[in-house]
Amino acid sequence: MKKEFSPTTNETKSKSGTVHPGLQANGTVKLKHILSGEEKQAILAAIVDSSEDAIISKTLDGLITSWNKTAKKMFGYTEKEVLGKHISIIIPPERIKEETLILNRIRSGKRIDHFETIRIAKDGSERNISLTISPVKNQEGVIIGASKVARDISFKKQALVKQAMLAAIVDFSDDAIISKTLKGIITSWNHAATTMFGYTEKEITGKHISIIIPEDRLEEETLIIESISLGKKIDHFETVRIGKDGKETQISLTVSPIKDLNGKIIGASKVARDISLKVAAEKQRDLYTQKLKDLNTYKDEFMVMASHELKTPLTVIFANLQLLQLLLPRNEHINFLDTSVKQVKKLTGLVNNLLDVSKVQAGKLTLNKTDFCLHSLLKETGKNLQQTTEKHRIIFKDPQNKIIIHADRERIEQVMVNLISNAIKYMPAGGDIYVEAYKEGENVLVRVADNGIGIPEPDLEYIFQRFYRVSSHASSFSGSGVGLFISAEIIKAHEGRIWVTSEINKGSEFNFSIPITN
Ligand code: ADP
Repeated sequence: MKKEFSPTTNETKSKSGTVHPGLQANGTVKLKHILSGEEKQAILAAIVDSSEDAIISKTLDGLITSWNKTAKKMFGYTEKEVLGKHISIIIPPERIKEETLILNRIRSGKRIDHFETIRIAKDGSERNISLTISPVKNQEGVIIGASKVARDISFKKQALVKQAMLAAIVDFSDDAIISKTLKGIITSWNHAATTMFGYTEKEITGKHISIIIPEDRLEEETLIIESISLGKKIDHFETVRIGKDGKETQISLTVSPIKDLNGKIIGASKVARDISLKVAAEKQRDLYTQKLKDLNTYKDEFMVMASHELKTPLTVIFANLQLLQLLLPRNEHINFLDTSVKQVKKLTGLVNNLLDVSKVQAGKLTLNKTDFCLHSLLKETGKNLQQTTEKHRIIFKDPQNKIIIHADRERIEQVMVNLISNAIKYMPAGGDIYVEAYKEGENVLVRVADNGIGIPEPDLEYIFQRFYRVSSHASSFSGSGVGLFISAEIIKAHEGRIWVTSEINKGSEFNFSIPITN
């Protein structure tokens, strides 16, 4: 018949060794019957087998006599493989001496408690273990061997290594790393904190953090602690702290909550980075930026002044030259006059452009809007420009379609002159230039297309910027790089948009679209 027993029972034995049936003194456990020697052994074997520690027994000569399941798991050998073998099978050669010392101690009847060491598994890998070894006595009380309990402490070791690594990181950090309680009492202070603020860890631990806070910033600490108590981190908060010598340091603070194992917030860790150099550099940058802005303003003012001053004499020269053209007989010398008129015209255009740039800069590009027929304007402009070239043909698409728009006629003409002149200029071999305009909803779209040299893709996004010229064109074509900038500003002032598509050696297509009535 199968007997029942309760392995967890706290036996209350009488002097005769019998177990009292029924409830125990504490009233919790009931033992069914007296355990036999066999049963006791079975219980022990079960305990040994289910233990999470490796349990090994050996003779006083170090020969292994038992080996539980965890020992197999820990060291890789089966019980069969190691029984009768010397324990040195799992001892690293440089630690063999330990075994002699252990056995000597066991022989003298003493036990060894929590001895931390290393043993080797079958695959050669090392195990960090904590050993507890007790003498095993026979019925006569003679020591006949040792029982060894090995606990795997690799995790503990790893945790210690990790802790040491973290400590080293904290110690070698260039940032001051400080921890404090929720009441603001400093609990740790690294090397960089000493360098930054002058206090040693010994001096400052236990003191209140306000020791390094300027008086007018004390309330920052209240806000920081409030935020930390709510579990919120503070990131890159730029502030000022004072060192032991009273010197102020500009710092960027990152403060995080410290939690205990139960997740309760018990303090804060503070990382302070010295940003004095950054702040100084920023100040310097602001100073230079301001200087640049001032210089730019002087330059703009000079440009306005210079172009204004140039404009009056140029107008007079131009008028007089034109008068001479009318008055003088058309002989071979008249060519000098014609060339001068051409150049003065060019110069006047340049001065006008510079004046326009200054106006845009000053936000003074004003429009004088009227209603006019866009096609008449396009035709007129095309006709005028056609007179400047024989190699090109300016072709209008769909000229019958008349569109009346409300815009600044002179400014739109300026844009058209610009786009068509560019098409002529950047198609040096000659060819056709197509000009078209059509309604698109509430807007009118105007397009100037050529079959010229085209614009490299990377330049397209900069083409409307002030003074921008395509570097590969600059050496072969004269220009100032302001025409498209002014055109874009004029279109912008009309609340429209301007854009370009282009392909090298195939040509470019400039488009703008503006509201018909606005
Ligand atoms: P620029 O006085 O140099 O012609 P723009 O502002 O009118 O100044 O034009 C800027 C640049 O755009 C020019 O230098 C030229 O490289 C390029 N560009 C403008 N129009 C064309 C075009 N139709 N074909 C090729 N490149 C062009």
